[in-house]
Amino acid sequence: MNLLRCSGLSKRYGNKLALDNVDLTLETGSPIALVGPNGAGKTTLMSLLLGFIKPSSGKISVFGEQPGSSTLLGKVAALTQDAVLDPDFSLLTQLALYARLHGFSGKSADAEALRVLALVGLSDAINSLPKALSHGMGKRAAIAQALIGNPKLVLLDEPTAGLDPVNARNIRELVADLSPDITFLISSHNLEELEKLCGKVLYLDHGKLSQAVDLSAPDQQA
Ligand code: ADP
Ligand code: ADP
Repeated sequence: MNLLRCSGLSKRYGNKLALDNVDLTLETGSPIALVGPNGAGKTTLMSLLLGFIKPSSGKISVFGEQPGSSTLLGKVAALTQDAVLDPDFSLLTQLALYARLHGFSGKSADAEALRVLALVGLSDAINSLPKALSHGMGKRAAIAQALIGNPKLVLLDEPTAGLDPVNARNIRELVADLSPDITFLISSHNLEELEKLCGKVLYLDHGKLSQAVDLSAPDQQA
């Protein structure tokens, strides 16, 4: 299925050209790595995909629709930072509330919260308060939040930043497990970490897409 199409896509902030004439077509499936140094334009591309900002010129469509259009609600989700968790309420309470915001009601909101918490391996922590979670668990809780409503595309901006190697690996295994039902677009400044996980790598540098490389066999053991 066509996931993303960009043609001549540029984004300017004042005089700064953050994305420079990007042409790109992506299909759903294996995780896709978006790699480049700080300032390369990774966050800008993700923000355009989400419809948070508008292109300065060129075109972009996601699942054939304009980013931000109502038909994409629920289909596209993002983890751009850690979940916004209220210290006074349990994970289950908070995710069920979030599910309600996504249109689930009553018992089905609880069921959806339990489903996503199980997906990320937090079934034993459903009654925990955020302060009782380790950093790695907090990250998984944030991913659980992004999975509510079963999106088809999930954007992960530096999902392993600040995690120790074991927790970083847990996140990669989680992504491998949920793929390819969900297509993940994962930004990182560290290609090595994503090489085994991803089926495709997009290199951004100074706003230019320098290469889009297909990796032969993504290693699901990553
Ligand atoms: P990355 O995510 O790869 O670090 P960004 O997309 O955040 O890159 O930034 C790309 C370039 O655009 C950088 O030079 C950054 O400083 C600049 N930039 C990003 N957002 C803004 C903004 N709101 N206003 C001005 N410049 C911005
Ligand atoms: P990242 O490193 O994840 O790309 P940053 O920490 O660079 O994000 O940017 C955080 C926020 O600051 C974003 O909203 C971005 O748009 C904005 N920003 C980044 N660079 C600039 C800049 N040069 N001028 C103004 N805003 C910026």
